[in-house]
Amino acid sequence: SKPVVAIVGRPNVGKSTLFNTLAGEKISIVKDTPGVTRDRIYANVSWLDWEFTMIDTGGIEPDSKDIILSQMREQAQIAIDTADVIVFITDVKQGVVDADSKVADMLRRSGKPVLLVVNKVDHFEKYMPDVYEFYNLGIGDPIPVSAASRLGLGDMLDEVIAHF
Ligand code: GDP
Ligand code: MG
Repeated sequence: SKPVVAIVGRPNVGKSTLFNTLAGEKISIVKDTPGVTRDRIYANVSWLDWEFTMIDTGGIEPDSKDIILSQMREQAQIAIDTADVIVFITDVKQGVVDADSKVADMLRRSGKPVLLVVNKVDHFEKYMPDVYEFYNLGIGDPIPVSAASRLGLGDMLDEVIAHF
């Protein structure tokens, strides 16, 4: 069967935007839409000679900061249990936050292949200095992308399929 790629990360980092961009249609609900009821959403993605199943694990996202971390841990566990490759998304505009570090530790310990993607790098020259901070997560080289502007996605997908 096809390889499975799971997208995890904090609310609002752009998981659903990335998912929809790669799926080529608006399957996953981007923030600002109330009443999200699905907790996992699947799509087929093709890249070069590969086809894989992509999962957006972040369908129900809490507003309360108190439960964000526990929900992220659950999402990360789903990814660890089901995915061949985990795409961990962060936000260059927010920088590294505590929940990122905790989830990064969990993903590292899992031994699964993890790609560290830094989203919202809408202008590479302007934001690249801020991307280097993400090396501190200790899960490898940060991959800068802009899901909204479709920048860096080819390089990111090359990294994904390199782990199949
Ligand atoms: P999720 O909660 O992680 O699924 O994040 P969403 O995909 O719902 O996106 C949250 C917000 O970030 C929305 O307002 C998006 O339009 C915005 N966003 C997503 N990707 C980018 C990006 O590459 N650049 C910028 N500037 N904003 C983005
Ligand atoms: Mg989402």
